Amino acid sequence: MAGCRSTIPRFCTSTEQLLDAVRLDRARAPVALDFNPAFRCLVPRSYVSRMRPGDWTDPLLAQVLALRDENVRVRGFSTDPVGDSRSEVMPGLLHKYRSRALLMATAACAIHCRYCFRRGYDFEGAGRSQRDIDMVWRYLGADPGIEELVLSGGDPFMLTPHLLRQWLRPSLKVPNVTTIRFHTRVPVAAPSMVGARLVNVVRWIALHKTCVVVVHANCAQELDPCVRRALGRMREAGAVLLNQAVLLRGVNDTVDAQVLLSRSLAQAGVMPYYLHQLDRAQGTAHFEVSTRRGRALMRSLRDRLPGYLVPRYVAERAGAPCKVVLA
Ligand SMILES: *Cc1c(COP(=O)(O)O)cnc(C)c1O
Repeated sequence: MAGCRSTIPRFCTSTEQLLDAVRLDRARAPVALDFNPAFRCLVPRSYVSRMRPGDWTDPLLAQVLALRDENVRVRGFSTDPVGDSRSEVMPGLLHKYRSRALLMATAACAIHCRYCFRRGYDFEGAGRSQRDIDMVWRYLGADPGIEELVLSGGDPFMLTPHLLRQWLRPSLKVPNVTTIRFHTRVPVAAPSMVGARLVNVVRWIALHKTCVVVVHANCAQELDPCVRRALGRMREAGAVLLNQAVLLRGVNDTVDAQVLLSRSLAQAGVMPYYLHQLDRAQGTAHFEVSTRRGRALMRSLRDRLPGYLVPRYVAERAGAPCKVVLA
């Protein structure tokens, strides 16, 4: 695809830059903006290019524009909404669900989503060391009940392909881990980062294990030709592609938006997996959609879509043995 070169992405790193890029005048903002947010502004230019210029209601802009609402304390919203810290068995490794362990491989992300449930996490902090990773593989090898390692973060595709390969090489000696799964927003947020070396890591894993890549798109407008191409390369390399979305007010809380998302994902070879109820992280209350509305939305989705394109509507509950299906 012409114009989808593999390059280092450029970013908007402040609210001012973001508004300039979409040709919006801060003096005319319909909501109070935060020009110096604690969770800093970070948006790839390619993601910005998919926004409608001059539109304050654009669903991509809504996901990344820092509002003063984020600083309002709302009861029930906390810094560890899903009880992650209780299931951390060693630095960065969460073992919350029986058969799968989740490694927060790096703190870095290609995009800072304002509704992030780990927004309280130290995104500028150091990543994992080789010693941490060696410990992780010893832990995984010692528990035959663990069948899957989920690499999350942050975003594991922020690591260099070389480091990813090095960290995953021990998996060849841990047969109980049959599946390597990535949770990443890179292919959607910054598709130019999906270069040949990263694709080759996916290909190498898929030769030895089941390789699942769960991407994160919330609305169809995020899936432009460059994104579809990046997804296609990973599929061709042997990965199973799934999508998780978060139900977000003003972004994808209509039946039409969800139908279009599922259809566009299928066209790109990605199956809808989860539609998450918002985790109640401090600073994200303005994105919340009630579960009553969420369930009504799901009923309409089942009328409009084939079963295989209806995501499971789930919530994360601290202490639960798996994600809780709401509909
Ligand atoms: C969501 C999650 C997983 C994966 O759960 P699945 O239902 O298998 O997608 C694993 N570990 C943690 C800590 C999670 O939050």
